[in-house]
Amino acid sequence: MASSLFTLKEGSHYMTKLPAESLSHEAVMDMLKEYKAIDNDSWKNGQVSGTVYSGEEELTKLLVKVYGEFAWSNPLHPDVFPGVRKMEAEIVAMCCDLFHGGPDSCGTVTSGGTESILMACKAYRDLAYEKGIKHPEIVAPISAHAAFDKAAAYFGMRLVHVPLDPHTMKVDVKAMQRAISKNTAMLVCSTPQFAHGIIDPVEEVSKLAMRHGVPLHMDACLGGFLIAFMDEAGFPLPPLDFRLPGVCSISADTHKYGYAPKGSSVLLFKERRLRHYQFFVAPDWQGGIYASPSIAGGVSARRRDCGLLGGTRDYRSEWLCGSNTRCGGNDAGNSERPAQHPRNLCFWGAVGFCNCSRLERL
Ligand SMILES: *Cc1c(COP(=O)(O)O)cnc(C)c1O
Repeated sequence: MASSLFTLKEGSHYMTKLPAESLSHEAVMDMLKEYKAIDNDSWKNGQVSGTVYSGEEELTKLLVKVYGEFAWSNPLHPDVFPGVRKMEAEIVAMCCDLFHGGPDSCGTVTSGGTESILMACKAYRDLAYEKGIKHPEIVAPISAHAAFDKAAAYFGMRLVHVPLDPHTMKVDVKAMQRAISKNTAMLVCSTPQFAHGIIDPVEEVSKLAMRHGVPLHMDACLGGFLIAFMDEAGFPLPPLDFRLPGVCSISADTHKYGYAPKGSSVLLFKERRLRHYQFFVAPDWQGGIYASPSIAGGVSARRRDCGLLGGTRDYRSEWLCGSNTRCGGNDAGNSERPAQHPRNLCFWGAVGFCNCSRLERL
């Protein structure tokens, strides 16, 4: 294990001071080559499930162009960059449609699955506070992503882990029922969970959520952009979206099977009323009214404005049809994808990060 960890080659060194003189463009590019030489390209052979989801050359070229067009945008200022705001609103609207959201469904683009989950937990914590719950609890399967542990730690919540059925590895619904208390702020299901790729019984947990009047968050970070297309691809699944009345929010990572580069995810809410608890506002800041929908502040759109989904509906269902494993073969190995053709690639929109777009649905 130790040998697989990174060690610097002989003769190389770390740069720890700002260069005294500015570097030429060529020198910068040469340095990038050196950094790249440290990495190896083994991910291109696939077998890095959960690490690289696309890697397709045509898509990479498109992403680089998109990035070039928006490198200097600042989504914290939608008045200056209304186009970025439009992109975000469109991404959210498309995702609401994919997950059968009703007319009041809405959402936010975030920097990744972790941020989507953090924001859902923050929203339900504040909702719980409003209900008079002083010590809000997240009731989640033990297989739920570690981002829920992180949310609990960040937001002063308690995480109550629910065991799995040892045969199916799905959450034990009876145990979940027993874990619900007067402190429960939210329930969680994964579609699927990261560790074993198992889809929890969302339909049953949705009933539980309705019976106890607590919101259910469906974590579709990994599988969101697969499960939405399974019916069309000929692998019907039971409803796993807002058609289930207990499902109040869904996280789905555009930077996984949405084929966007890292730094983009979507958090959807069934109702605007719920999303409201996610926002932060400091009305009397000396710099002006500061309102921000999620964790980041005035970040450059650099990392996140390429929320690019590398496929049309056709492309995706053809691809799913051609694969019979959960991940369609290996994630980065493109040779196993039958419909991998540039002509099928479609630009779905660059993800902006702005204040007002999420205050107003399209
Ligand atoms: C990847 C993943 C997350 C967290 O997403 P990041 O994008 O890594 O922050 C959450 N839940 C599931 C099921 C995931 O696969």
